[in-house]
Order: sequence, then C-alpha cells, then structure tokens
Amino acid sequence: MRAHRPAIASMLLAAALILPALILVMPLRALGDEAMRAEVATFVQPTHEARQQAMTAHLDRMGLSYRTEAFQPARPGVAEGRNIIVDLATGAPADAPVIVLSAHYDAARDRQGRFFDGVVDNAASAVILSHVASDIEARALAHPYRHRIRVIFFDHEELGLLGARHHVESAGVADVAFVLNSDVAAYGDTLMYSEHASFPQVRRAVLMACAELALTCIGYPAYPPSDDRVFTAAGVPNTSLGFQPRVAAHQLWLALNGGTDSGLRAGFVPPVFNAIHSPQDTMDAVDAETLSTARAVYGAIVRHLDQLPLAH
Ligand SMILES: [Zn+2]
Repeated sequence: MRAHRPAIASMLLAAALILPALILVMPLRALGDEAMRAEVATFVQPTHEARQQAMTAHLDRMGLSYRTEAFQPARPGVAEGRNIIVDLATGAPADAPVIVLSAHYDAARDRQGRFFDGVVDNAASAVILSHVASDIEARALAHPYRHRIRVIFFDHEELGLLGARHHVESAGVADVAFVLNSDVAAYGDTLMYSEHASFPQVRRAVLMACAELALTCIGYPAYPPSDDRVFTAAGVPNTSLGFQPRVAAHQLWLALNGGTDSGLRAGFVPPVFNAIHSPQDTMDAVDAETLSTARAVYGAIVRHLDQLPLAH
C-alpha cells in the first residue's frame, strides 16, 4: 500500500495540473451543446399557441429582435399562423441581396389533434438557426457580410408548407439570392442536402463548408419535402439540410434515389420516417453534438454563399 503512495501523489499532482486545462478546453463546448439541447426542450408544448410563445421566448432569451408575419389559414379549426422573422445586422448595404435561413418551428400532430413533441422535426433546427444568427451578428462586427441575412422561422409547415407559401405570396422573393432550409437536424453525424442541378453554386458552397469541417455530406437529387419546395417553385437557388447517422443517411439516399435496383429489402422504410411525426420524436433522440456540428457547418455554408458574386 505504502509503495503506491508516491504514485498516487504524482497522479494527483498530474490531475491537479491537467484538470484546469481540460476544464478550459473541453467542457466549454460540451456545456454549449447541452445548453442548446435544453433550449430545444422548451419547444415541447401542449398547444400550438404555447409553441408559438416558446419560439419568441427563445429569441427573447437569445437577444434577437424579430417581427411577426401573421396569417390565417383558410381551413376550419386551424389556428392563426405566425412566421417569425429576424433580420440580422450583417453590415451589408440596405439594398444588398438577401440570404434566407429557414426552419419551421411548428410540430406535427396525431389523428386526434394532439401535438407530438416535434423536437427532431423541427425545434432542433429552430434552435440551431438562432445560434447561427447570433454567430453571424458577432462575426459581422469584425467581418461585414456582403449579403443581408434573414432568418425565418416558419409556422404551419406540417399543414402543407402554409407559412412559407404565405411568406412568398405576401413578401415575394425579389430580394432573395439564396435559401438554406433546415429540417430534421437533431442526431447523426452526416449532413444531408437536397441537390439541384440548376443551383450548382449552392452545392459548391455546401461542399466547401463540408470540406472545411471535414464533415461527411451527401447530396440528394430527390429529398424529403420541406419549406424549400416553395422557394424552388419560385426559382430561388436553395438547398434543404438535415442530419442522420451515416448508415441511415445512405439508406434514405437509396430509398429515394436508388430506383428499383436500390439493394434495399422489399418494404424497407428509412428509419427517419418512423422517428418523426410519431411519439418517438422526443428529447431522447436529440444529440447535443449534432446541434453543435449543424451550427458550425450552417455558418460555414453562409460564409461561402456570401463570397459568391452579388446577384441583383
Ligand atoms: Zn419538418
């Protein structure tokens, strides 16, 4: 026992020297991740109105000022929709073209009308974009952007992209150069993005950001629909972004793009389709590391888009 004392003492000494350094380096990131994850949990609400209030309360806590674009869907029993819009201070001229970052914050509901938690789909994206927004404003103080940047938290996506449709119909897209939409970005290590042959500049910006972060990214010619569809229909260069674990991302690619010879067994359903719009979409599925990775890569994509020639 005694013989071990010096070893223990030297171990303790080493720990005393190393631990403060570790506390400085490691937990900062871990704390940030967990804080973001906790923010996602605040979106779990029993009613649509409470979810809307959770969205604006989150932005209030983030110190981001916003305006509300209200709309009444022409459907009986559907609550007023509220798109929440944050115009960032980027240092760009007031007439500069706009990069839009979008995520819907409404949750899907079951057949009885009860809301699912809707954290994977899509509170996580709303929280990620709020942090990307803060990062952009902080960076713009030293490095002004050439584009204006507008973050739009769309409502009623789950009822048929209603918020995005209302926005495009009422505000138009004349000043919008690019749209990055985020949907289902809560777990997994692989970035998925919708790939449009007609928008090669967006694809290049995504790939440059992925290379910068050494992140595996997969482009999908066919990709699950989200609010991006409204901008594609309006001719605005865009991509829709999401995250999945590597294997599931490849399975989803094959299911949507592999045709009849995909190699997937008959009747195979990509796991993400069972994970969303279901009681499985809970905080248990939300991974702090993915939130942090998404925040970093989305910010990098915006920087690469901002370098492109200004389209007027
Ligand atoms: Zn969604």
